[in-house]
Amino acid sequence: MNHPAPANSRYKPTCYEHAANCYTHAFLIVPAIVGSALLHRLSDDRWEKITAWIYGMGLCALFIVSTVFHIISWKKSHLRTMEHCFHMCDRMVIYVFIAASYAPWLNLRELGPLASHMRWFIWLMAAGGTVYVFLYHEKYKIVELFFYLAMGFSPALVVTSMSNTEGLEEVAWGGLIYCLGVVFFKSDGVIPFAHAIWHVFVATAAAVHYYAIWKYLYRSPADIIRHL
Ligand SMILES: [Zn+2]
Repeated sequence: MNHPAPANSRYKPTCYEHAANCYTHAFLIVPAIVGSALLHRLSDDRWEKITAWIYGMGLCALFIVSTVFHIISWKKSHLRTMEHCFHMCDRMVIYVFIAASYAPWLNLRELGPLASHMRWFIWLMAAGGTVYVFLYHEKYKIVELFFYLAMGFSPALVVTSMSNTEGLEEVAWGGLIYCLGVVFFKSDGVIPFAHAIWHVFVATAAAVHYYAIWKYLYRSPADIIRHL
């Protein structure tokens, strides 16, 4: 018998869409690891090293967790609880990833006394988002989206008040790409391959942000070669 799908049930991607969802993030895992290692290598002091770790963990975690979730939902659809668990992780890691993406700017740039509180507050927001996903996963999708956007935008207020504004244009461009991608994030079942397109937007924005962090916050590789 055919049961009508509940209104909030997730869209079931086609086999090709499943494959696209996996590959669009799987291919980013190795570059994310290499990129993180490079920032670590380019660090001048302990604080830069720690920040490279934090940022690198967020960057790698996003692509790894996302890829694992999409592989499981594609290949092991009979393991419903496991898929559900990874779907929750896939959503939780977004909060951690937003915090990690801002960490280099907040940690390594001079901030005012009030603005500097954003350094820990962003992680508090990430923790809050994680708990929210744990409790209300998929229940109020619009609230979830609002949280992502609020968390994505609030540190920008602090970042733009920095005296050294080098690289912020790239940060804003990355942010804009994420925002445009949300259109596809919300178009499952309406636009073919919508979720994979969303992944491409995420990968592009993450690459723009990585470039800005590498260029403006860490020592240039040419300096390293000079110091060898
Ligand atoms: Zn995904």
